[in-house]
Amino acid sequence: MNANYLQTPIVYLKGVGPNRADSLQSELGIRTYQDLVNFFPNRYIDKTQYYKINQLQRNGTDVQVIGKITHIKSVEQKKGKRLVATFTDGTGQMDLVWFRGQKWIRENLKLNTPYVVFGKTNYYNGFSMPHPEMELLSDHEKGVKIAMQPVYPSTEKLANKGITNRVINKLIQQLFADIKGQFTEALSPKIISALNLISKSEAMYNIHFPQNQELLAKAQFRLKFEELFYIQLQLIAKNMLHKQRIKGFTFDKVGTLFTEFYNNHLPFELTNAQKRVVKEIRADLGSNAQMNRLLQGDVGSGKTIVALLTMLLAIDNDFQACLMAPTEILANQHFVGIQELLANMNINIALLTGSVKKSQRKIIHEQLESGELHILIGTHALLEDKVQYKNLGLAIVDEQHRFGVAQRSKLWHKNTIPPHVLVMTATPIPRTLAMSLYGDLDISVIDELPPGRKPIKTVHRYDSNRLKVFQFIRDEIKIGRQIYVVYPLIQESEALDYKDLMDGYESIARDFPSPEFQISIVHGQMKPDDKEYEMQRFVKGETQIMVATTVIEVGVNVPNASVMIIESAERFGLSQLHQLRGRVGRGADQSFCILMTSHKLSAEAKTRLETMVRTNDGFEIAEVDLKLRGPGDIMGTQQSGMLNLKIADIVKDNDILKTARYYAIQTLKEDPKLEKDENFVINYTYAQLIKHKNIWKYIS
Ligand code: ADP
Ligand code: MG
Repeated sequence: MNANYLQTPIVYLKGVGPNRADSLQSELGIRTYQDLVNFFPNRYIDKTQYYKINQLQRNGTDVQVIGKITHIKSVEQKKGKRLVATFTDGTGQMDLVWFRGQKWIRENLKLNTPYVVFGKTNYYNGFSMPHPEMELLSDHEKGVKIAMQPVYPSTEKLANKGITNRVINKLIQQLFADIKGQFTEALSPKIISALNLISKSEAMYNIHFPQNQELLAKAQFRLKFEELFYIQLQLIAKNMLHKQRIKGFTFDKVGTLFTEFYNNHLPFELTNAQKRVVKEIRADLGSNAQMNRLLQGDVGSGKTIVALLTMLLAIDNDFQACLMAPTEILANQHFVGIQELLANMNINIALLTGSVKKSQRKIIHEQLESGELHILIGTHALLEDKVQYKNLGLAIVDEQHRFGVAQRSKLWHKNTIPPHVLVMTATPIPRTLAMSLYGDLDISVIDELPPGRKPIKTVHRYDSNRLKVFQFIRDEIKIGRQIYVVYPLIQESEALDYKDLMDGYESIARDFPSPEFQISIVHGQMKPDDKEYEMQRFVKGETQIMVATTVIEVGVNVPNASVMIIESAERFGLSQLHQLRGRVGRGADQSFCILMTSHKLSAEAKTRLETMVRTNDGFEIAEVDLKLRGPGDIMGTQQSGMLNLKIADIVKDNDILKTARYYAIQTLKEDPKLEKDENFVINYTYAQLIKHKNIWKYIS
């Protein structure tokens, strides 16, 4: 079928009209014929089965029953009335119930006449079926049998406007008739035969009107593959283009600074994972393409040292480097730590954050432009236009998920030739998602913790056990340890949370009185200076307890802190809990994480807590998180369009995704510009998708 025909606005389809067109567009985003045929059912109902009333199960699935209505009555209820019909089939009886459209139904239903009713059942003192689909048995027997009935996603508004599942199905039938069921093939003959796929037309037919289970499965596979294939093709093409087009600075010298540091000042031996990642980065930097690499490593896996070694490579090659962190606390900590590591080397480092004074700022700007400064560490302040480098060769972004895409690309544009970019994240992104979200980045993973770490022991305690927990804190402080107590701060209920925090602080202050105990408190409503002061007291060991909101979530490093108490832990997401727990377990001592909750826990909260207690593995936690919440809530997905997938599911269709990625890579490897005859179909389809914006913008 001519692809242009499918671009026809939906209003022109027979049976649609302006009103329905409006609803279809606003509720389902269906604007064109194309959008309609690509609007796929989200489940199917097997209508080959008929149930007897005495066989019904209390599991709420859709069932089909043959029987007769014996009487109908209106029943008064709190608001308005409901219409109830008694339906019997000889084995038992159930109620058919209507809340809407009662008049029409009352006038049109026939008593004591065989009907086929279809719908979900509820059980309360017997079975009932609200708003059943009804068909006279005589019509039912004459009609075309569709074995698997598609169910399309819908909304309340659509239902109220009478655009039911059946209407959608009829519209699609109409459209299929118009185009005689013919769709332009969208995959190359080579891929079709390699994967033994059914044709596009066959797949489209069976996704909307499945002839049987087997063909439905084939149709689903083929369409999911196609969708994921073109997304991967786009990501990989972008990555390849990027490498070709965007020349980077070649760092070909492993110079004196790197070597000197590595041999004389490295405070520990690198783990094998760190060594491997440094090697991967060096290979990027030594090629003449710009590096665009994501470094994933769980909290405490030692990303900072990798960042530092990379910066030394830049300086060895006469370039400057910058490191951007999401919070002042973190930037400051990087600054102090890196300064310490480089204390005996002749390297100039500066810290630039919002709280750096104007006069000091000016000096930094000048030294950057003259090239006197080698390394600049800071927050968003690094992105200001005034910050100009002599020759920025490397930009590192820590905890990248906290920055937007725009911010990342701003760093790039600090030079005519973009600097190499290394983004680091401690939020492990499940492989599946990483492939889709960051398919255009190269990925390195530190999957090993430095030696000698004792795994953190995590327990779940109810608020009612608080006294025991306090005793435990006391014991830990006695042996010289420090404690974090973290309260949730979620924007919507900020005032309430703030009160929780203050109440908590007071109760702790009562149980841990000065002068024996000293307590720090840090929260978002404090001035940066005060925050810093309190932080420093804790870092220096002057205070034993740090009461805080989640501002300490990222990056803070106090190796002597060995207990993390998370209050109202049921209110935190898994990745946040994991991040918080990562604040302890940084020293040689046994560390603990105590998850405090009330007794009221949702099933999901229970799973989160159990997962935290069971494992310390960030990737495992991320996988559970993905399953619990779906990809929608995972950082980064919102910007990516991965949620707009029409048929594939990036969590469930992991294997298809891998296959699609493999074929996309192969195709572009063999034919980067898609100019070979055998790839004509792919080239054409890809161009169409881009032209009609049916492929989404991804993070770059
Ligand atoms: P993250 O990956 O969370 O940023 P850091 O870089 O802050 O982790 O490292 C956590 C701690 O581990 C730091 O105190 C660091 O000095 C230490 N560390 C890093 N790599 C090693 C290693 N190979 N051996 C021993 N300790 C290490
Ligand atoms: Mg870090």
